[in-house]
Amino acid sequence: MITEELFRSDSYLQECEATVTGINEKGGILLDRSVFYPTGGGQPGDVGVLVGADGTEITVLTTVKGDGNENVVHVPAEGSALPAPGDTVTARVDWNRRYKHMRMHTCLHLLCAVVPHGVTGGKIGAEKSSLDFDIGDGSLDKEAITESINKLIKQDHQVGARWITDEELDTNPDLVRTMSVSPPRGAGKVRLLDIPEVDLQPCGGTHLAQTGEVGRIRVSKIENKGKRNRRVNIVFDE
Ligand SMILES: [Zn+2]
Repeated sequence: MITEELFRSDSYLQECEATVTGINEKGGILLDRSVFYPTGGGQPGDVGVLVGADGTEITVLTTVKGDGNENVVHVPAEGSALPAPGDTVTARVDWNRRYKHMRMHTCLHLLCAVVPHGVTGGKIGAEKSSLDFDIGDGSLDKEAITESINKLIKQDHQVGARWITDEELDTNPDLVRTMSVSPPRGAGKVRLLDIPEVDLQPCGGTHLAQTGEVGRIRVSKIENKGKRNRRVNIVFDE
């Protein structure tokens, strides 16, 4: 049974009531709905707790995608007393960590908009994030990138999502900025992250509602990753 992904329509949900639908072969907990984001697209899976009706807490160490229909698997701490199918739980994410992921993730879209090169990889963390670019024979300026991103943050652009069909994506291949991750297909439609006049690309991650919430950032360093590849590292600058 597919888990309803509440974080797709509202990334600000910190908890939800849910019913346990099963325990998979590896001991992962499956729910009918969840606010927990599973590892994907360079963003780490959420951690948090599942609170039972009697108040017992199960620590969720991470959230991943499983096999087949298992789109959201809550991985409990070893030795946890597992709930039974049919049990009701409150699923609560570690909001402090997840909100940092949302700020970093949204910031990487701004980085993508500022650097006019193809993206070859990326990694999101609560304290540090990075994108890799194939810059060809171009060059990157740390201070200029920092300044351009902070300007977009300060302008407080609205961040939204919309859906297009696979066919629309096929006829607009330029929408795909990230060469290393092809957007999920087959479902008939693709979710686009839309920061009007700044960035538009397929993305299934969790974002902020406004770029202003990112807060000041800086490019901490630009690393050489081969002749054409550069890794741009971002940290919060508070
Ligand atoms: Zn995104």
